[in-house]
Amino acid sequence: MSSDRRFRGPIDLHTHSRVSDGTESPSELVTAAAVAGLGTVALTDHDSTAGWAEAGVAAVENGITLIPGMELSTRVGWASVHLLAYLFDPADAALLAETERIRVARLLRAEEMVERIGHDYALDWDDVLGQTNPGATVGRPHIADALVARGHALDRSAAFAGILHWKAGYYQPHYAPDPLLGIQLVVAAGGVPVIAHPATRSRTDVELESRMAAYADAGLFGLEIDHRENTDEGKERLRRVAERYGLRLTGSSDYHGAGKPNRLGENTTAPEVLDALIERGTGSAPVYPAAR
Ligand code: AMP
Ligand code: FE
Ligand code: FE
Ligand code: ZN
Repeated sequence: MSSDRRFRGPIDLHTHSRVSDGTESPSELVTAAAVAGLGTVALTDHDSTAGWAEAGVAAVENGITLIPGMELSTRVGWASVHLLAYLFDPADAALLAETERIRVARLLRAEEMVERIGHDYALDWDDVLGQTNPGATVGRPHIADALVARGHALDRSAAFAGILHWKAGYYQPHYAPDPLLGIQLVVAAGGVPVIAHPATRSRTDVELESRMAAYADAGLFGLEIDHRENTDEGKERLRRVAERYGLRLTGSSDYHGAGKPNRLGENTTAPEVLDALIERGTGSAPVYPAAR
């Protein structure tokens, strides 16, 4: 299998552009990935594939492999669960309908949060629009940027630790499907689902564990174990879970440009795992550099 391997390492399977809450265009992001020495990068904007075409052109120009992807918002109760999806059909009607529903819900939710924040701080929706690329999937990071521009927070991280924290009283959840439905939709679209940062400092990891058998049955491919927000103890536990259900392990940066401290390539995925992922994905193809 490795004889026809057409990608190079290092492999980083989780990044965001301005199509969602990153700070670079898809093309700038792919160029930054090449400059950082990566051989393969996945673009995984939240609930959108709008960056795929531009990223593909930049990948060819920069001689690196692009894995088209997305980070689908899902939810268990109040806890948000992020599902990475790779190589699915971007025109699949059911998946498109669901991402559209999520994106509309995100927009309404952001407007409501800003309305509430506006009672206590000078901030309105135009401030947020000024920080958001047209058509982008809107999230708390865009509200954070507006708060920073208004001088209410020093940077995104400070805004998240303060005004945007769920404990601050302005937080609001938004509609997102159950992870099981997310997995089913991605698989039906020919894609490969991987649960993003499944062992962060919340109790969702424990809840997820009890559901893992159903997720695996539905076609879950893997768990993103090597991610800076997973706890050591959680990683250890989920490695055993992965072994039990035959799930693959991935690692990635979750790069957001200047929006987060995460650096490209700070965590990577093994070539064998990407081989298996490419073999599984049938909805779209990787963009490979021109043959030399
Ligand atoms: P939302 O999905 O709108 O609730 O916002 C969550 C998003 O905010 C995540 O996808 C992260 O990319 C981003 N995020 C979370 N915490 C931080 C932080 N401390 N600094 C910057 N971005 C963050
Ligand atoms: Fe994000
Ligand atoms: Fe995430
Ligand atoms: Zn992410």
